[in-house]
Amino acid sequence: MIGIGVDIGGTFVKLYIMDERGEILRKDKVETNYSQGAENFIKQIADFINQIKTQYPQQPIAVGVGAPGDVDHQNGILRYNPNLKFKDVDEWPLADMLQKYTGLRPYVANDATLAAWGVYESVLNHQGNNILVVTLGTGVGGGLILNKELYQGSNGTAGEIGHTKIASTKTGPQCGCGARGCLEAFVGTIGIKRRVMEGILEHPQSILAKMVEQEKDFKIELVSRAAEKNCPLALKIWEDTGFFLGIGIANTCLILDVDTVVLTGGVSGVAKYFLPAMESVLHHQQIQTPFKKLKLIVSQNPNIGGVGAAMYAIYREQHK
Ligand SMILES: [Zn+2]
Repeated sequence: MIGIGVDIGGTFVKLYIMDERGEILRKDKVETNYSQGAENFIKQIADFINQIKTQYPQQPIAVGVGAPGDVDHQNGILRYNPNLKFKDVDEWPLADMLQKYTGLRPYVANDATLAAWGVYESVLNHQGNNILVVTLGTGVGGGLILNKELYQGSNGTAGEIGHTKIASTKTGPQCGCGARGCLEAFVGTIGIKRRVMEGILEHPQSILAKMVEQEKDFKIELVSRAAEKNCPLALKIWEDTGFFLGIGIANTCLILDVDTVVLTGGVSGVAKYFLPAMESVLHHQQIQTPFKKLKLIVSQNPNIGGVGAAMYAIYREQHK
């Protein structure tokens, strides 16, 4: 069986062809094309799937699609998405549309959810029973494996750790989702930028302040570069990132008692700066049992979303 993984992003669509053993046979990346409208965008993905179908005529094909936003996994509908700039994409019947053009019924799920399956398959090699995967980037997403199965919840929105609240919903910082006090508003890249700008006002002479002034544009990488130079402000930004992330992860662990937490996504690349503070929060919880044997893993695999989509589709086809 061949698995096709489609990872839809606001800027790029990543496409993966995988075999059953988890080998990537081919990968592609195309820019998300907004100019021709949503239907043509889907047709473009369908063309790719059809091309693979003719390339492997003897093999059954399974298709998995990860989409950013609120996904109805049972019906393959993208309910709401703030990152895709198509008009009228609310209640977008992705599975129906792709089936119409390819004859194949894809498995559609939230991208972070499928990334969690990718981590379970290709990073953990099925080790662990209950796993929380946190994707750290512009947004903060999450996915869950419970009892060795992908857990999507009653509506497909399980694992939205980024929008759990760690501060007041009245006075906390504003999140991209519109609410206040979300974890993402502290540790998503926009949240980190806000804290950096606040810090710069207080410490205008810091290395980080000078770097930001010089670059004229904020990049998360500046905070790491300043931390490398031992800038106290940058180090404090990362320490606080770890502290906030620790609170969010501890809350989830107290509810779900997972055995493994995996951090993935762009920001996880600088985990060395925030991990100590995060671990400290976990190790100073009053109720210690869920944290004593908790495995903490940092995995930077940029392919994980597409790999997860393809592997999950294969898994579902094989366990029908
Ligand atoms: Zn939010």
